[in-house]
Amino acid sequence: MNTLQIEKIELFKVPPRWFFLKMTTKDGIVGWGEPVVEGRADTVEACVHELSQYFLGGSASSIEDIWQTLYRGGFYRGGPILMSALAGIDQALWDIKGKSLGVPVYELLGGAVRQKMKMYCWIGGDSPEVVMEQAQARVNEGYRAVKMNATAAFEWIDSTKKIKNVVKNIALLREEFGDDLDIALDFHGRIHKGMVKPIIDELTPYAPMFVEEPVLSENNDSLTHIYSHTSIPIAMGERMYSRWDFKEILQRGVVDIIQPDLSHAGGISEVRRIAAMAEAYDVALAPHCPLGPVSLASALHIDFTCINAFIQESSMGIHYNEGYDLLDYMENPEVFDLKDGYISLLKEPGLGIRINEEKLREAQKIGHQWSNPVWRNQDGSIAEW
Ligand SMILES: [Mg+2]
Repeated sequence: MNTLQIEKIELFKVPPRWFFLKMTTKDGIVGWGEPVVEGRADTVEACVHELSQYFLGGSASSIEDIWQTLYRGGFYRGGPILMSALAGIDQALWDIKGKSLGVPVYELLGGAVRQKMKMYCWIGGDSPEVVMEQAQARVNEGYRAVKMNATAAFEWIDSTKKIKNVVKNIALLREEFGDDLDIALDFHGRIHKGMVKPIIDELTPYAPMFVEEPVLSENNDSLTHIYSHTSIPIAMGERMYSRWDFKEILQRGVVDIIQPDLSHAGGISEVRRIAAMAEAYDVALAPHCPLGPVSLASALHIDFTCINAFIQESSMGIHYNEGYDLLDYMENPEVFDLKDGYISLLKEPGLGIRINEEKLREAQKIGHQWSNPVWRNQDGSIAEW
């Protein structure tokens, strides 16, 4: 039997802000992963190298044993760096296993429960004209759902004027598209507890699809207070990294949608488990995905096999990308073609995407130094981005 011995790994830091892991077995099967924390790529790179001592020379077939070893083998565990490194390694292992057996990853996860996945992407801009223009462009591309930031920087307690401004863009979109467009609002953890309820009250008449990160994940205790106040579905989880991070909000019943990120929350293995936990609490799944093609493909295989997945984010055209987009490093970009707002099953073996290695090697020479902006309030104090 093919042992799938892991012979080597190689890492590529490329624009716009991505990081790819190439894992190769002794008999030449290649698996791809995206182990990255946006703005901390070099730190995750060091972590992947440190973790590689536990799996180099071992069998890529032992996905669960490698996962458990990387998680439990270190005395300290969890958090964005370790779990993102583990996520990218896990994605590459699933890719290799699928390719070695000649089947797509969703088959290994039990087979598809749906034939296509509903997608959404980000829109934004400083002026209402830009928001309208971007929304129209997305609708023309086939999207039936979009997401935008609810606000720019917001002070701990901010002005009535800024609270009322929050509805400007969603009001325009409702006027133009009626209820045919689903619109999600991302609070991005920018808002502090005292401002969440007044902002949600303003938004309620416009019926957002969901409100995302109404508070930072470290303030999850505030969700009780928010959840009981509103009928808008509450989404959380892009900054939560394992089933242990999610279990408490599920038990407390203060979330309607969870958004684990396939490149941050321990990869395909862990997000499958988190999704099953959420299913037991009747909570929906909408994986977070502002990253590249390996991350998106991994998310889609989860969506194809998890009954509670209802929509998938993609970074197509997202403002961070600046000159590089989701499809740029792919040899088979057509697998992400949108039909009526949906992406079809990824049927090629493994993750179902082929990476253009030549382009990746060229882009690696450019690399990136991306980090998120640091915002300050008018008085000079730091604000959440
Ligand atoms: Mg978000």
